Amino acid sequence: MADRLYAGLPERTKTRERFEMPQAESFFHGHKTIVRNFASILKVINRDRKHLFKFLAKETATSAAIDETNRLVLNGKFTRDQVNRLVSSYITQFVLCPECKKPDTKVVEKQGVRMLKCEACGALSSVKGL
Ligand SMILES: [Zn+2]
Repeated sequence: MADRLYAGLPERTKTRERFEMPQAESFFHGHKTIVRNFASILKVINRDRKHLFKFLAKETATSAAIDETNRLVLNGKFTRDQVNRLVSSYITQFVLCPECKKPDTKVVEKQGVRMLKCEACGALSSVKGL
């Protein structure tokens, strides 16, 4: 009878940096997982839709699609925590500057190689799989 749902919620400490990881809003639909704010995550991180899409499909080892309302649809059931961990790992790998850890980066091409250019500290970093 007692509601223990709240007992296990971890406390978040967010003092490391000003950047807040965007949180995926996902839910199950049958055997699929829908990420309804996929478009707004992309907006926050300012990255190519296809790149994040491919990353998530690969990491979840499933086929994925983007529906007509720009939601991400994953074939399979993934909890919101799982989705958020993947989004965070994408951001850590491909968005945050490896030098100063700020998210103010963009993708540039130098001699045909895609690199991460940081607008905060000026660093140009090569990132595998970018
Ligand atoms: Zn930087």
